[in-house]
Amino acid sequence: MSDCIFCKIAAGQIGSFKVYEDDHVLAFLDIGPIRDGHTLLIPKHHCSRLEDCPPQALEPLMARLAQLAGAVQRAMEADGYNILCNSGRAAGQIVEHLHFHIIPRKTGDGVFKHWPSFQYPEGRALQVAEKIRQKLKK
Ligand code: AMP
Ligand code: ZN
Repeated sequence: MSDCIFCKIAAGQIGSFKVYEDDHVLAFLDIGPIRDGHTLLIPKHHCSRLEDCPPQALEPLMARLAQLAGAVQRAMEADGYNILCNSGRAAGQIVEHLHFHIIPRKTGDGVFKHWPSFQYPEGRALQVAEKIRQKLKK
């Protein structure tokens, strides 16, 4: 994708603070971090969302995500981390190239709190689960 900023970073046309690179994936520091060590992991193969990504690209991506998350936590002497994958504008995706945010967290850092939750009314959870199961078949 010629106009994709993350493809350009993967191709070395735009600079980045690289954390890891191999034939399939690239990890680099987010330029607008939430905290020190906020890292992005991308597949080199351009796809905009997780479900668009072919299995052969997903496999190395997921393996590296796990390794990288642990490394980011240890390097930043953090107590945990969040992994975020904003998918679609409604979910806050700005860059349309699949990426995972790895955000190191310290106890009580207040970066963000748990999201508001609600309780399903009687019978609703059954319907919702069935709807999703149906879509998995297609
Ligand atoms: P998202 O809202 O999930 O699409 O987030 C895109 C992220 O990419 C943001 O956190 C930006 O700070 C980050 N970003 C955009 N351009 C660059 C860049 N050139 N180098 C590093 N990070 C970038
Ligand atoms: Zn791209």
